[in-house]
Amino acid sequence: DMNSPRENDYEIPRDQIEVVTTIGEGQFGDVHKGIYRTRDMADMPVAIKTCKFHGQDAQGVADRLLEEAHTMRQFNHAHIVKLIGVCTDHPVWIVMEFCKYGEMRSYLQTNKHSLDMTMLMTYTHQLSQALCYLEERNFVHRDVAARNILVAQPDCVKLGDFGLSRYMENQNYYTASKGKLPIKWMAPESINFRRFTTATDVWMFAVCCWEILMMGIKPFQGVKNKDVVGKIEAGERLAMPSNSPPALYHLMLSCWSYDPGQRPLFQEIQQRLSVILEDFEQQ
Ligand code: ADP
Repeated sequence: DMNSPRENDYEIPRDQIEVVTTIGEGQFGDVHKGIYRTRDMADMPVAIKTCKFHGQDAQGVADRLLEEAHTMRQFNHAHIVKLIGVCTDHPVWIVMEFCKYGEMRSYLQTNKHSLDMTMLMTYTHQLSQALCYLEERNFVHRDVAARNILVAQPDCVKLGDFGLSRYMENQNYYTASKGKLPIKWMAPESINFRRFTTATDVWMFAVCCWEILMMGIKPFQGVKNKDVVGKIEAGERLAMPSNSPPALYHLMLSCWSYDPGQRPLFQEIQQRLSVILEDFEQQ
């Protein structure tokens, strides 16, 4: 079958991958750090996602992961983690570009005393560029949040392998385990009607900016998931982080317009952020 996701041009011979250590746990299994060795390339550090599913479901899950890997292969952007290849025989491995500074939230928490506002705004600008790239391709991310961002360099952040999280939604895992929905990041129409569009990505992006400015603090602490949409519908929004340039918070508030049609596009957000960043640096 030529259309099978198992037919691909990004298969990696497993013996060219050396697993070094376990660095985390993903929804589908452990994530390892490894080294990709080929004859014609220098050794490359990689992140290896494994798939822990067994039994009758395993092939279905593996096929979906490989399909999503195929989607990710099409993206080539400085601020989106690159898919390097896959090992399709069991156990399935998804091999990604390695981001050596790890998860953004813990990076922000650990380095909060040395990160200045210019750097935080640089991160938000980089992410808006990645999301603008996806917007141009009509690709909806659905899970923009600081927990899904990796730090490649102290001045370079990347959107993680979102294709894999999208899989959960397609398979009803999302509705089956409502507790796992990222309610506090979601636009009201996503919460109310399960509607996901570029405009809902814009809402989530602004929540993610808030997390970045707050150095990795999660939104709506102490609020129950079921109370979030009521607060939003009553006009409440996340408060301005004390260090935020007012222009940046103003942009975030526009991303939190109740009416999705009133929210700016990433194209505009990205332009406005570069102006806000320039103005800030000239002060
Ligand atoms: P999933 O989305 O499948 O739940 P994650 O993407 O959250 O899995 O990965 C789990 C952990 O593995 C992350 O929190 C991070 O610490 C680590 N990790 C994942 N991908 C990479 C990567 N490309 N580079 C470095 N570390 C990574």
